[in-house]
Amino acid sequence: METKKCPYCSEEIIKEAKKCKHCGELINEQLRKEKVNEEPKEIIDNKMNKQRFAMLIAAILGALSTFLPWVHISNIRTIYGFDNVGLYTFFLFLVPIVLLLIDDKTKPIRKSILLISIIPTIIAGIIGGQKFLQFNSLTSSMSNNVFTQSLGNSMTIGIGLYIVVVAGFILPLLALKKARI
Ligand SMILES: [Zn+2]
Repeated sequence: METKKCPYCSEEIIKEAKKCKHCGELINEQLRKEKVNEEPKEIIDNKMNKQRFAMLIAAILGALSTFLPWVHISNIRTIYGFDNVGLYTFFLFLVPIVLLLIDDKTKPIRKSILLISIIPTIIAGIIGGQKFLQFNSLTSSMSNNVFTQSLGNSMTIGIGLYIVVVAGFILPLLALKKARI
């Protein structure tokens, strides 16, 4: 059998070898070129997948917040998202979750999907922000009234309402970061 020296490690290999059995380098020029062209693309794909993953996490947290406390009235009651407008925000966060999951995950997120994802998410963030402001004006007005003072002071915002607002505004930021690349 005819042999030649591997140009990369100088070991003896079969003349027709496409890949060196000693160092693993591709000998065939065509295959080498294809591999070189593939590598940077893979890196970009990984970045896109990270973005998709980050957006999905934000949307899932936003949807889960419906089942977390939005307002605590100490020792008396906890108001969950689903007791309030949490069912609306749940479905608003469900839109990006479904779209990001049905899209081809090996490819960059399509612009149309980015756009349709961020609109309901921003609306959910605004709803959460409005609840935040409502809560603050309610507790401050209660605190100014002698009869409701102690009740007003016993009310605090729960983790769920924080998550709605944060997720609602972080997801569009994640989407914009991708669009800039
Ligand atoms: Zn070699």
